Amino acid sequence: MMVLDTPEAMRTWSREQRAAGKTIGLVPTMGALHEGHLSLIRASVAECDVTVASIFVNPTQFGPNEDLEAYPRTFDSDKSKCEELGIDAIYAPKPDSMYPQGYATYVEVERVSDHLCGASRPVFFRGVATVVAKLFNVVEPDRAYFGQKDAQQCAVIRRMVHDLDFGIEIVEMPIVREPDGLAMSSRNAYLSDNERSVALNISKALFAAREQLDAGERNAQTIRELITAGLAGLTIDYVEVVDADDIQPVDRIYGPVFIAVGAWLGKTRLIDNIAFTP
Ligand code: AMP
Repeated sequence: MMVLDTPEAMRTWSREQRAAGKTIGLVPTMGALHEGHLSLIRASVAECDVTVASIFVNPTQFGPNEDLEAYPRTFDSDKSKCEELGIDAIYAPKPDSMYPQGYATYVEVERVSDHLCGASRPVFFRGVATVVAKLFNVVEPDRAYFGQKDAQQCAVIRRMVHDLDFGIEIVEMPIVREPDGLAMSSRNAYLSDNERSVALNISKALFAAREQLDAGERNAQTIRELITAGLAGLTIDYVEVVDADDIQPVDRIYGPVFIAVGAWLGKTRLIDNIAFTP
């Protein structure tokens, strides 16, 4: 397994693979790998001739008072996990080689970024779209793998790939949860035991909402109220029902939607969602 740390080295390696006729899968991550990430890696290894995982805590997607410094960095154990799963290369660029002095170009995906995390984290999707575009440009993958845990991020990337003619297949993988239902996240490492049990209210509330949806409830306000009532102990950022393509809030559920929650538990921001199609 190669570990590459500059755009030039990454591109050279990728072009060698392509010249040898191999298909390339890319799994973008910020490291602190857990089973959620590993499910994307397994899918890529199964479906592509070679797989690259990028590990980069991307500074441009963090706001000034967010957790860029505190974000868990566990490169050695991430590397062993990648090796075990049969990854061919890790791309772990230094911030300076991604954003050298004078860097001035950003990708903005309008509309899809307006609500949910886009509303409370103003620079977040600009940073995500920019770093993913840069990764696509150096790795030139055939397929790239993303998790539905970040459903709005998936929608932003799909929009960008379509609008900017990237010609890369975006593969979305289901949310991986702990046995008790908590969505896996690198940020779960911040939670104390007590916070960890309060955090469970998010998935419980979403699962309760799914029961109502399955029973025929289609009023978004009713669903939002049900979820909000279940989020005791959390500071709610948003509870929203949005259409699955454009991530715009809906009043009534006619087509595919996401029911999405963003909430604070002390200093930790957690997100989760369920997809529903009537
Ligand atoms: P991150 O390292 O948090 O930027 O996540 C890297 C990729 O892993 C993104 O595509 C995430 O959506 C995906 N991911 C993170 N957590 C999960 C999870 N619990 N289940 C599925 N995918 C996930």
